[in-house]
Amino acid sequence: MPRDRHDAMFIKGNNCKITNWASWFEYRELERQTIKLPAGGDMPCAIFFPADYSVGMANLGLHYIYRTLRETGVAVERFFAAPIPYRSVERDTLLERFPLILASVSYEADIPLFARWLGGGGVEPVREHRETSSSGNAPLIGAGGAVTYINPISLSGICDFIVLGDGVETTRGLVEILRQGLPREKMLAALADHPSIYVPSIHERGRHLLEIAKTDITRDYGRGVWITERTVFGDTLLLELQRGCVRGCGFCTLPSCFAPARSRGLELVKRDIEEASGAADFSRIGLVTPEAGDYKALDELIEFASSIGKQVSFASLRVDGITERMMKAVIDGGRHSVTIAPEAGDENLRSKTGKRFTNKRVVDVLKMASDLGAKSAKMYFMFGLPGETDEHLLEISKLCATARDETGLKITAAASPFVPKPGTAWREEVFEGEKNLKRKHAIISRSFGGLSGVKLQTAGIREACIEYAVSWAGASASRLIAEAALSGASYKRLVNMTDRSKTCFEFERLGLNAGTTRKGAP
Ligand code: SF4
Repeated sequence: MPRDRHDAMFIKGNNCKITNWASWFEYRELERQTIKLPAGGDMPCAIFFPADYSVGMANLGLHYIYRTLRETGVAVERFFAAPIPYRSVERDTLLERFPLILASVSYEADIPLFARWLGGGGVEPVREHRETSSSGNAPLIGAGGAVTYINPISLSGICDFIVLGDGVETTRGLVEILRQGLPREKMLAALADHPSIYVPSIHERGRHLLEIAKTDITRDYGRGVWITERTVFGDTLLLELQRGCVRGCGFCTLPSCFAPARSRGLELVKRDIEEASGAADFSRIGLVTPEAGDYKALDELIEFASSIGKQVSFASLRVDGITERMMKAVIDGGRHSVTIAPEAGDENLRSKTGKRFTNKRVVDVLKMASDLGAKSAKMYFMFGLPGETDEHLLEISKLCATARDETGLKITAAASPFVPKPGTAWREEVFEGEKNLKRKHAIISRSFGGLSGVKLQTAGIREACIEYAVSWAGASASRLIAEAALSGASYKRLVNMTDRSKTCFEFERLGLNAGTTRKGAP
């Protein structure tokens, strides 16, 4: 994803173009389904993922919601931001044919893109404008996805309703309500009665107690619907192992917003692999899990996959949890590069983040990777962390240089600003802001100057400012995000509107005390 994509989107306003006729035919031809889904349906519904096809199709949440909708008889068709934004993957249908548009939003910074995509497709992105529009046939717009566990209010300026938390069960209830065919106002009132559906036009008034749904993942789906070479993971079956995380890194949303930590048993997981193998060809199993090493039956799973000729890949390798067997599985799976996240170059600062391993352990793990055949490593760091000094920043390049010298691997250091998020243990920590982050970035960049075999990549500082502002957006800021899709308002206005205490007050009013385990959670 281009680094400045969100920034450009927020600043330049609506420059999204409706494409000339183009077809998804070649993409469809490459898709294999791991499960037979009912054809047709009685309720035309567009589901949008705010990224390009290769990224969206690698998101298991999209697979789950699509499957739920198809199994409940909804005629759902997929839309992605690129390469053909306003025609559906299934049948090249134009967006304008859909009276219901749902979005699966994983990242805060994708909310402005969602608004802009709507605007570019001729759909009014500002919810209140649709409510007062005289035509009365504006589509109904809803959203779900990972951001709804953290700050659903950030979508309230755009969406008529927002599905909170784990979406499969709630989506079944949502479809039942929509199928009643009620007039718009009555339908929104019926949706607002659901404990895990947030309806801004109703819930923004008065005090309400909503629940971020957390389901038993052993009863939910566990595998992806499609396999296609055109995703970022290639020819891979997506397979969920765990949700939430048992560890407690202060900056991370997983141990708090996605709590409690839940796991799918080995037999269930094996059954998914067997059923998918019977339905479609694939060479690799991509484990969808926060920390693969925390899955108790990981060794047996790797063995099982190998016994049926499948490779296994992990999204992340936690330095203090990785074993030689896991590393071997990664390398045997065809990856010549390993990815780890030390977060800080200084051990004490790292320990404060919740990651308690030494620099020696980092180097030992990379040495293991090198001995097993890896050629390069990517190391993720953050800057702007609580308690960080300028000396701490210099430790990042030192650790990378040591790793290069002792392992022979080519090293890429990816450094991104720390963004405090609602619901995390570090939700009240300071966000450093553009000026200080630029200063710190300059220190890091200078320290990497002249290091051969080590490359520095830094995430956009403006992008982090937008992410911070969107993750804490209350109702007014969310409306500004929607308006900016057409007006091209400056992102600085949004950043200046950020008021964490006001947003916390709005959470409180909705009973969304983000980060705590809600009643009803398993
Ligand atoms: S950073 Fe990784 S280990 Fe830490 S809480 Fe998040 S998912 Fe768990």
